[in-house]
Amino acid sequence: MTTPPTAALDQLKGIGPRLKEKLERLGIARVEDLLFHLPMRYQDRTTVRDIGTVRVGSEVVVQGRIGECRVNFGRRRSLLTVIDDDTGALTVRLFHFSRAQQNGIERGAWLRCFGEVRRGPRSIEMVHPEYSVFDEEPPPLDAGGYTPVYPATAGLTQNRIRGLVDQALARVDELAEELLPEELLRANRFPTIAEALRTLHHPGSAADAGGALAADHPARLRLAFEELLAHHLAARHSRRQRESLAAPVIDVPGQLWNELESSLAFSPTAAQRRAIAEIRADLARGVPAYRLVQGDVGSGKTLVCAAACLDVIEAGGQAAVMAPTEILAEQHLVNFLNWLQPLGIHVATLLGRQGARERRAAIESVRAGVAQLVIGTHALFQESVEFHRLALIVVDEQHRFGVMQRFALREKGRRGTSVPHQVTLTATPIPRSLAMSLYAEMDVTTIDELPPGRTPVDTVVLPEARRDEVLARIRDACARGEQVYWVCPVIDESETLEVQAATDTAEALGAALDHVGVGLVHGRMKTAEKETVMQRFRDGEIALLVATTVIEVGVDVPNASLMVIENAERLGLSQLHQLRGRVGRGARRSYCVLLYRAPLGEIARERLAIMKRSNDGFEIARKDLELRGPGELLGTRQTGMQRMMVADLMRDQSLLPAVRRAAGDIVEQHPDRAGRIVRRWVRTETELAHV
Ligand code: ADP
Ligand code: MG
Repeated sequence: MTTPPTAALDQLKGIGPRLKEKLERLGIARVEDLLFHLPMRYQDRTTVRDIGTVRVGSEVVVQGRIGECRVNFGRRRSLLTVIDDDTGALTVRLFHFSRAQQNGIERGAWLRCFGEVRRGPRSIEMVHPEYSVFDEEPPPLDAGGYTPVYPATAGLTQNRIRGLVDQALARVDELAEELLPEELLRANRFPTIAEALRTLHHPGSAADAGGALAADHPARLRLAFEELLAHHLAARHSRRQRESLAAPVIDVPGQLWNELESSLAFSPTAAQRRAIAEIRADLARGVPAYRLVQGDVGSGKTLVCAAACLDVIEAGGQAAVMAPTEILAEQHLVNFLNWLQPLGIHVATLLGRQGARERRAAIESVRAGVAQLVIGTHALFQESVEFHRLALIVVDEQHRFGVMQRFALREKGRRGTSVPHQVTLTATPIPRSLAMSLYAEMDVTTIDELPPGRTPVDTVVLPEARRDEVLARIRDACARGEQVYWVCPVIDESETLEVQAATDTAEALGAALDHVGVGLVHGRMKTAEKETVMQRFRDGEIALLVATTVIEVGVDVPNASLMVIENAERLGLSQLHQLRGRVGRGARRSYCVLLYRAPLGEIARERLAIMKRSNDGFEIARKDLELRGPGELLGTRQTGMQRMMVADLMRDQSLLPAVRRAAGDIVEQHPDRAGRIVRRWVRTETELAHV
């Protein structure tokens, strides 16, 4: 960041070195940064809601007469207070409470509280809400408007941030420079930047009960537009920077690929051929390629990247294939060894859990250039790894790597101004208009065809209570000599619990199913252990494989015809689709059972229904976007870009064509503004990513 601070934080009241440090952690270094530290949402403290109508998950004010108030000695001691407002009852639960608090809450008095509504064992609950006690019915709320909730950090309270933002807002006209051309503001009826910021921080009655500013509010639209514009300009900038670099020219007859192709038991699909041709054209340009290949699970992306690797090897370069997990890296290894060893190509592997001697040998062969292809996990970009002449990096499921990790690998291949080509594979597709705007730095190839002969997987959605039926299905499948996956996904964000759940499940299933060989793989096992279990599953010695989501990607056992996924309602649709892609790889009819824990919310029900209805990864991703919003799908994880602060990629898609046009105009007519727009919205990491 090169802009000097125009308004130093010291100009604010109540600022000291400790507070400054905390603000810096939020990316706030200047007073004007506070203006763009926008609320994530708003709290509605303007209206008292009827207890009978509040929704679980919402943050609301409720009040009611205190009925019961007692200390509960359950697993954890808590003070329970039940309030009732004639429309319903709600329990307030305090785990930490003083004697004074306990005495202050009296039966018959009134309690007003603000907090998040949760489901409780007997009624809806609030845990540690803000509350006040009244002797009689409380006076009406003063309708001071919606309260902003800001991204915060440890030791920095909402009230503190609100106070600082308000100080900055008092100087908004002076500090927030108008960067959008006037014609653009007029044509779109956008408010000025100062007006828009005032509204965003203090929406008054413009916010709605969902805690957001109305989607079509001009203030929100204007900021969303500018934010999308910033990301688009940043992407164009990275592309231009990349295109000013050099890369090895790969222009070969393609003999190695021809040899591989003629040895395959199948012929590549038209879509695969097209993808290969597009990558070849990139590689021949002498400019670093940066291409995203998106294709559904099983569409054969591995073969496409193998073709690119072969061209690079034929031209005397090295290729690296980077996978997000050990299991996937190992799976790639099996494929590549099968395909490339007969061609006399030397393949090395670098995995996190390799033995020291093995790793040293691999590193040496990569450094000396003996290894023509290297397959690995994050172990590939360790400091000790040096490449002889790295010319191509293939990244599988890029969104699972950090931007900096990919950057580090590219730097390993740098020689002066020449950097390696990059091809990225993903099974989580992005709609075209989004790709054009936000991935303006990449070229996108879509593999829109599956190899022939695949039978779509039949999906069944069942409540957990019907586990017995599932066991019967497993018995039948195993009796026919088929194999089964049972997936136990993350329940509590904790790998330990996930591992525990899988271990327990494997034991229980082993006990319930006599004569069925049960195996277990999870992320805490050593690579060799995992590989042994996987090998026994591949060989058919194990009929039922219980696994955590480690098997999500890449595992290929065509004899598996049934997959059971527990807690399916907790997983993203694209992840479910990935998992489901592990079955249906052979010729026989395959099934996927999605087990959920009742009761299901409306959206959860709709999501599982989509899985039942569709086997098309693109359609599933589209619906997932609609139902979930792209934050998750296209957030930091997928794009390697920071989360959008105002824009919502799904909702604001219609702005994108205008954003692209405006970007062109600004670069031509106001080139000095482009950089300032980017710096206002896009944090450094993205800018670093591809320069
Ligand atoms: P994904 O796109 O999910 O990574 P893979 O590359 O793992 O898919 O391919 C899935 C399976 O399909 C592999 O066993 C692969 O060898 C096989 N395959 C790839 N291309 C074809 C094709 N054109 N015809 C038949 N099978 C193919
Ligand atoms: Mg794959």
